[in-house]
Parts: sequence; C-alpha cells; structure tokens
Amino acid sequence: MMILDGKNVASKILTMVKNKVDSLDIKPHLVVILVGNNSASKIYVNNKKLAAEKIGIRSSIIEFPDTISEETLLDKIIELNNNPEVTGILVQLPLPKHIDKNKVVMTISPKKDVDGFTPENVGKLVIGLKPYFYPATPQGILMLLDEYCIPIKGADVVVIGRSNIVGKPMAQMFLNRDATVTLCHSYTKNLDEKIKTADIIVSAVGKKIVRCKMVNKNSVIIDVGIYKDVNGKLTGDVDFNIVEPTVKYISPVPGGVGPMTIASLMYNASIIYS
Ligand code: NAP
Repeated sequence: MMILDGKNVASKILTMVKNKVDSLDIKPHLVVILVGNNSASKIYVNNKKLAAEKIGIRSSIIEFPDTISEETLLDKIIELNNNPEVTGILVQLPLPKHIDKNKVVMTISPKKDVDGFTPENVGKLVIGLKPYFYPATPQGILMLLDEYCIPIKGADVVVIGRSNIVGKPMAQMFLNRDATVTLCHSYTKNLDEKIKTADIIVSAVGKKIVRCKMVNKNSVIIDVGIYKDVNGKLTGDVDFNIVEPTVKYISPVPGGVGPMTIASLMYNASIIYS
C-alpha cells in the first residue's frame, strides 16, 4: 500500500506556480465574491486568498450581504468581466435561495472562470476541446495520479457521486484520458461489485461508502469526501484504517484531495487570457 500524499504534491505544484507567477510581467488578480454569512464559506474564501497571496497572486474578496439582489450581483460580475485588471473570478457557493446560481455562473466570462463551471468551459470539456479552465478538484486528482505515474489510459474507473463540481467533470476528464468510466450515484445498483472490479475508485459522496470488502489489492482509492464525524474529527468516504492495508494506493483525509484542490485552483488562477 502507498499513500497518495496530496499535501506534498500540492506543495510542489504551488512552488511551480509561484515560479511562473514571479516570471510574469503582468500579475494575475483573482477576485472572490462572497455572499452572506456562511461560516464555512468564509473559511474557504479566506483560505483561497491566503493561498493566492503566498504565491504572488493578487487576490480580493468582495463581500455582499445575503439580502443583495440578483441583479446587483450579476452587474458586479459583468463589471469584473470588463475589468482588464481582473484575470480570475470565483463566486463562492452556496448562494442565498433568491439568487439563481445558474444565472450567476453563466454570467462569468469563460476566460475568467477559474472554477471551470461555465457552460462554455463544461461544453468544451464534454466535446473534447480544451476549456479555458478545468474544474479544480478533478484536475487536482488527475495531477495527483500523474505524479505517482498511475496509468489512466484503458483503466476501469468508478466515480461515485455526480455533482457538477466533482463527479461529472471527473468522469468526463477520465473519459477524455481514455479510461472506461462508470459514474455512480444514489440509485446505482450493485455498487460493491462495481467498486471491486475497478482499477481506480474516486468517491465524492460525503458519507462512509467505501469499505474493506469492496476493494482489492490493486485498487487505487481517491477519497474526495470531507466532513466531520460524530466526534468532530475530519473524515472522508473511505473506511481508511481498514481499507488502507488492503489496496495499492489510497489518498488520506485530510492531506489528500483537499490540498490538491487548492493547488489546482491556484494553477488556474495563474493563467491569464487576454
Ligand atoms: P454532493 O453534491 O454533496 O452530492 C453527493 C453525491 O453522492 C450525489 O451525486 C449523490 O447521488 C451521491 N450519493 C449519495 N449517497 C450515495 C450512495 N449511497 N451511493 C452512491 N452515491 C451516493 O457532491 P459534492 O459536492 O461533489 O461533495 C461530495 C463530498 O466531497 C462532500 O463531502 C464534499 O465536502 C467533498 N468535497 C471535497 C472537496 C475537496 O477539495 N476535498 C471538493 C469538493 C467536494 P444523487 O445524485 O443520486 O443524489
């Protein structure tokens, strides 16, 4: 068994991105929009700002109260789209119920959409064209697998969870790398059997899903899930202590996909389109 050390790989990527940013004449400027008082969102936004500043990417947070109108928010995004000094825009989700998340995402310029969530970027991914940006978490997972030289071409991959931010783009990105992909969700039958025969398993669910009897000695397990257990300890979708000795590679929580997501986002934030 080998641990896929996301913390270490992320640190290497961040150094590489910092070197690239240092060499740029025009520095990237990431603007993060935060709406409302969600404490988890505040932490995520501040972490992104800190990560950006550490590698020389200018970053600004624009905060709005949760009473902001959809129109005002969309107007602000349009203003940022038109501002040549802003190279990346990220709207922290979730948004208050009266704001249509899809409208917000569709308003962001695809060339500044560092999350890779706009229809143009998602559509390009699906038809096999290069999007301006790939979504951070799946891109970070592929960077992690590549760092450990884990073969993707021809691999049987099971992705569990079909969110727009992780599961769906992850499945598509594996498909684009010539893997055979099974995308699973809460209605999937015989999940155990699908996991058992897969070469690579990516679990993005948010509860304990992957247990020892489902895996084999050649399994590569990527645990995206992150939540607090009943004791308040951060945990993932995989029964780590029991599964770890029985598989070939496994990513821990914390220290696996989490740092890779941040590094991948910073990689995106360092890209400037004119
Ligand atoms: P999500 O929107 O929370 O959706 C969960 C997915 O899991 C859904 O597609 C759901 O299926 C599926 N699911 C639920 N129960 C299932 C079951 N018993 N068997 C199979 N599939 C099941 O997904 P998300 O936003 O991608 O988040 C998933 C987890 O990843 C969360 O813990 C989140 O915190 C974590 N996450 C971590 C990072 C990171 O950087 N480490 C980044 C993003 C997310 P249905 O579609 O049928 O409901």
